[in-house]
Amino acid sequence: MDTSLSSSIAERLHAVRTSMQAAALAAGRDPASVSLVAVSKFHPLQSVQEALAANQCVFGENRVQEAAAKFPPLRATHPALRLHLIGGLQTNKAREAVRIADMIESLDRPALVDAIARAADAEGRLPDLLVEVNTGDEPQKFGVPKEQADAFIRLCQQRFGASLRGLMCIPPAEQNPVPHFQLLRSMAQTHGLPVLSMGMSADFEQAIAQGATLVRVGSAIFGPRPALA
Ligand SMILES: *Cc1c(COP(=O)(O)O)cnc(C)c1O
Repeated sequence: MDTSLSSSIAERLHAVRTSMQAAALAAGRDPASVSLVAVSKFHPLQSVQEALAANQCVFGENRVQEAAAKFPPLRATHPALRLHLIGGLQTNKAREAVRIADMIESLDRPALVDAIARAADAEGRLPDLLVEVNTGDEPQKFGVPKEQADAFIRLCQQRFGASLRGLMCIPPAEQNPVPHFQLLRSMAQTHGLPVLSMGMSADFEQAIAQGATLVRVGSAIFGPRPALA
């Protein structure tokens, strides 16, 4: 895949889509069953507009404030736009998250469930929701710990019904991601959840082989971003 800096966002998007299709076909899957979430965090509006011009409609952002500054103004001209919030979410940001997001991928604790339920009542809208599972049980990471995941998923299903669409994970950086993808898939099967958000720039093809329905790809599309704080 060509991810060199000299190529444009449109060219890199095309390369990612081509790799996604090949990975789906190699796994005996329908390429249309996997969607690309273009992760535009830390990248300017101009980059988002270039991706939109290349027919990319679904975007991911980590921070509510950054997403709120970039995306709502684009909706009037791009009705197909979909915004996914993929970062750890503070309860005091729940209301704005519910207001601007089409999907929140990072439900991971009961206090956040309460905050999102209250915000949904107040705003009169409820985005689609995913539970983030900390499949590596890394203490510094967001996501519900593995051993609490089943109970937490049931809580979210009781609270949100079919708006709880599936699961998301970010495997530990230094490990083979495949067992993490497999664990997430089996948890989703257990709970009858259709959406599996897994795979990033480095491993989206492996994630597709393991059943991903959403891949979240940032640097392979938009190039490198400033180091995370
Ligand atoms: C930044 C980020 C991504 C994209 O990572 P890349 O390696 O740049 O593709 C995906 N998911 C989450 C949750 C992220 O924070």
